[in-house]
Amino acid sequence: MGLTVQKFGGTSVRDAELIHRAARRAIRAASSGNHVVVVVSAMGDTTDRLVDLAYQITDRPNRREMDQLLATGEQVSIALTAMAIQHLGHDAISLTGGQIGLRTDDFHGRARIREIVELGRVLRRLEEGKIVIVAGFQGVDPDFNVTTLGRGGSDTTAVALAAALKASVCEVYTDVDGVYTADPRIVAEARKLESICYDEMLELASLGAQVMHSRSIELGKNYDVRIHVRSSLTDSEGTYIVKETADMQQVVVRGAALRKNLARVVLEGVPDAPGAAAQVFGAVAARGILVDDIVQVVTAPDAPPTINFTIDSSDVAEMRGMADQIVAEMGVRHVRIDEDVAKVSVVGVGMRAHSGVASRLFQALRDADVNIENISTSEIVISCIVRRADGEKALRTAHAAFELQQPTQG
Ligand code: ASP
Ligand code: MG
Repeated sequence: MGLTVQKFGGTSVRDAELIHRAARRAIRAASSGNHVVVVVSAMGDTTDRLVDLAYQITDRPNRREMDQLLATGEQVSIALTAMAIQHLGHDAISLTGGQIGLRTDDFHGRARIREIVELGRVLRRLEEGKIVIVAGFQGVDPDFNVTTLGRGGSDTTAVALAAALKASVCEVYTDVDGVYTADPRIVAEARKLESICYDEMLELASLGAQVMHSRSIELGKNYDVRIHVRSSLTDSEGTYIVKETADMQQVVVRGAALRKNLARVVLEGVPDAPGAAAQVFGAVAARGILVDDIVQVVTAPDAPPTINFTIDSSDVAEMRGMADQIVAEMGVRHVRIDEDVAKVSVVGVGMRAHSGVASRLFQALRDADVNIENISTSEIVISCIVRRADGEKALRTAHAAFELQQPTQG
């Protein structure tokens, strides 16, 4: 018997009617001869409301108690989904992360899955003919404290279960009908992709495409889980996230993305001596700030260099908080934070096999009169930092430059 994991995001279980719709879909999959495991997120904006409540109580909520609180959202939706399935006449049981033995590390708020130790329990219930509903986003640490996997983490629960249970597919039901060549709210011609490989999806996710939790794609890649992102409102096929195939390299660029929530940090006058960068970035990392796009610029032969890097806008306050320390303790002359930047990127495994990709992008941006402030590349990505006000235009320009609106051959 085949096994399918179906994951329903918060917008797909927002109210009773949608929970019934999800229940019908699960029953349909079971009736066509599959074991079915359903993973659900909290209903609608429940998690946001719980976070908000915590901050009404205190501006520094304890991290353990925050997880205890947030995990309740998914506990509500698994029970209601199980009831809906039972109401429609099919057997079902709901289980929390703890009840399936989903063990994580103890990093509250951003825990990582280590193992699922009570899979036997899930399998037994499936053998009994039940649809098993599992709470997404949550687990327990070695000391049985409730942990959560980071916002959007239900995707990761679903893919981890699909991997552990060797599911034939992990269906991710959401409010969009698949993965697009770019955000269709910004690029009207954006096109739904039939398939995309894990590496491309991972890059797009970290570059601003908000389709799935990055960690879930990593897991999918490591365990070769076929992921099908699709709409919970229709029956049409969505986008398959799969292992890279040879013909995928025929397409130079698969998609484009825009990250608007960036800020650039400029360290002017960094001491020109061994260890200066190590000291600064060590201190930044110790504050949990993720940095990207680091560039060192030497303006004159014997002037001290400038180092630029980007951070997420959400880390700006933390970064400002340590600016004085960087100046006083590390001998940097001045720290400046520029909040008006954005990053536009194009991604495709085909870049490995094609040349001229970067120049095509730069020429298109020139023709659109967009100034490029920094460029970074990796094997399958080219990114340009631009003024935030130019971000959307830059994304549309990149999309058109690679004719992403045309159906791909691959
Ligand atoms: N409910 C959690 C959140 O809103 C997890 C999820 O939706 O995947 O982030
Ligand atoms: Mg989600």
